[in-house]
Amino acid sequence: MASPETIAIVGAGYTGALLAVQLLRRTPARVLLIERRSVFGLGLAYGTGCPAHLLNVRSGRMSAFPDDASHFVRWLQDNRPELADPDGFAPRMVYGEYVRATLDAQEAASPGRFERVSGEVTAIDADGQGVQLKLADGRRLSADRCVLALGNAPPDPAGAAGLTPGASDRFINDPWAPGALATVKPADEVLLIGSGLTMIDVALALDAQGWLGRALALSRRGLLPRPHDATQSHAQPWPPVDASLSQRAKAFRARARTIGWGEAMDEIRPFNQALWRAADSSERRRFLRHLRPWWDVHRHRTATEIGARIQAMIEARTLSVGAGRVVKAETRPAGVWIDWRPRGATETRHDRFDRVINCTGPLSDLNRSPDPLHRDLLDRGVARIDRERLGLDVDAGLRVIDGEGRAHRRLYAVGPITRGEAWEIIAVPEIRGQVAELAERFARG
Ligand SMILES: Cc1cc2nc3c(=O)[nH]c(=O)nc-3n(C[C@H](O)[C@H](O)[C@H](O)COP(=O)(O)OP(=O)(O)OC[C@H]3O[C@@H](n4cnc5c(N)ncnc54)[C@H](O)[C@@H]3O)c2cc1C
Repeated sequence: MASPETIAIVGAGYTGALLAVQLLRRTPARVLLIERRSVFGLGLAYGTGCPAHLLNVRSGRMSAFPDDASHFVRWLQDNRPELADPDGFAPRMVYGEYVRATLDAQEAASPGRFERVSGEVTAIDADGQGVQLKLADGRRLSADRCVLALGNAPPDPAGAAGLTPGASDRFINDPWAPGALATVKPADEVLLIGSGLTMIDVALALDAQGWLGRALALSRRGLLPRPHDATQSHAQPWPPVDASLSQRAKAFRARARTIGWGEAMDEIRPFNQALWRAADSSERRRFLRHLRPWWDVHRHRTATEIGARIQAMIEARTLSVGAGRVVKAETRPAGVWIDWRPRGATETRHDRFDRVINCTGPLSDLNRSPDPLHRDLLDRGVARIDRERLGLDVDAGLRVIDGEGRAHRRLYAVGPITRGEAWEIIAVPEIRGQVAELAERFARG
C-alpha cells in the first residue's frame, strides 16, 4: 500500500493553522506546518498583546469551522465564560488562544501525523516529483504537495516619502513588529500615515500604553472605518444584480440609503467573491481605483466600543484625522519634519513630529516586497503576481500560477495572498471556508 502523502504548509497564522487542522481531519496525510515566528496559530492579527484590540466580527460569526457555527462561542463558554456573548466582540488575543487550542486538540487527535517546524522558508522548488523547501538556516525539507499560507506582508514604506525603515527609531514602518511602539514616549507628537484599521489598532495601543500626546492620522481621503451598529445585523442576503459595475454600485447605494451601509454590506458579502470573479480586469481596476476607499471603510468596520473609543480620542483632540498626502519627510535629531499637502490644496504644510508610524496596512503588491521567499518565488518565476497586484496569481483550484502562466500541480496558496482570485478572502468567515474546501479537494486526490 502506498504511504500517505506529506503536505507542507508554509505559514502558521490563522490560515495555515486551520488548514493543518482541516487536512488532519479530512485526509490521511502527514502534515508539516512551518512557521518563522515563535508561536504557531496566531499570525499577525491574533498575535497582538493588547487587550484593547477587539475582533471586528461578532463572536457568533468567528467559528473556525464553516460547518459548526457555534464552535468559538462554545469554546468561550468553556474557557472564558465572561466573554461568551455571540453578539459581542472578543479580544483578538483571546481568539488567538482559541486558534492555538483548536490546533493543539487536533494534534493530540492525530498522533504521528503532524509536525511543527520552526524556521523561515526562503526558497521553494516544485516539479512533477515533489516539492523541495529551503530554510534560512540551511535545512531542506521535501513534501508531495505544498501550500503557501504566507498571510499579510509588512507595510510598504513608499507612502512615507523617503523615510527608510530601520534608519531611525523616529520612523516605525511595521507597527505590528514585537515591541515596535515601545519607543513612543508619553508626550510624543505622532504622525500616523493611514486612517484605516491599522491606524485604529495603533491609536488604541498607544492609548493603552499611557501615551498622552497628540496624533494626526493622514490618508488621501481622511476616511475612518465605520463602527458596527450597536444592534446585531440580521440582514437577509439579496442576489447579485446581473449588471455593469456602475449599475451595481448605483443599486447598492440605493439599498444602503434604505437600510443603512452596515446592513447593505452584510447583505452583499456572501456574493462578493462571485461578483469579483465575474468582473473583467477593467471593471476590477475601476472598482479598485474609484470605489475601494469607500468599500474599505464600510466593509471593514470596527467593534462598536472601539468606534466609541476612537470618537472619544477625536473629541479630546488626542487624535485628529486629515485628508492629504505626505510630500517630503526629513529626519533630524530633534524630530521628523513633514511637508504634506491637504487634499484639494495647492499649499504645502510643514509640521514637526516626534514619531512617524506607517499605518497603511499590509503591502499588497508583492513586486515591492523585500521578503526572501516572495523574492525567490517571483524572481525565479516559480510564481507570479495576479493582474490587479493584490497577491499571488492562483487558478480557481488555488494552484499557484508560474511565471509562464502554467498552474503548478503540487504548489497551492490560501488566505489573503489569494485576494486576486477571490477579493473577499481576508477575514475568518471566508478563509475558514476556503481552507475547508481545499482540504476536501486534497482528500479527493
Ligand atoms: C490587525 C488585523 C486584525 C484583524 N482582525 C480580524 C477580525 O477581527 N476578524 C476577522 O475575521 N478577520 C480579521 N483580520 C483578518 C484575518 O483574520 C487575518 O488576515 C488572518 O488571520 C490571516 O491569517 P494568515 O495566516 O493568512 O496571515 P498572517 O496572520 O499574516 O500569518 C501568516 C504567517 O505566515 C508566516 N510566514 C510568512 N512567510 C513565512 C516563511 N517564508 N516561512 C515561515 N513562515 C512564514 C508568518 O510569520 C505568519 O505567522 C484581521 C487582520 C489584521 C491584519
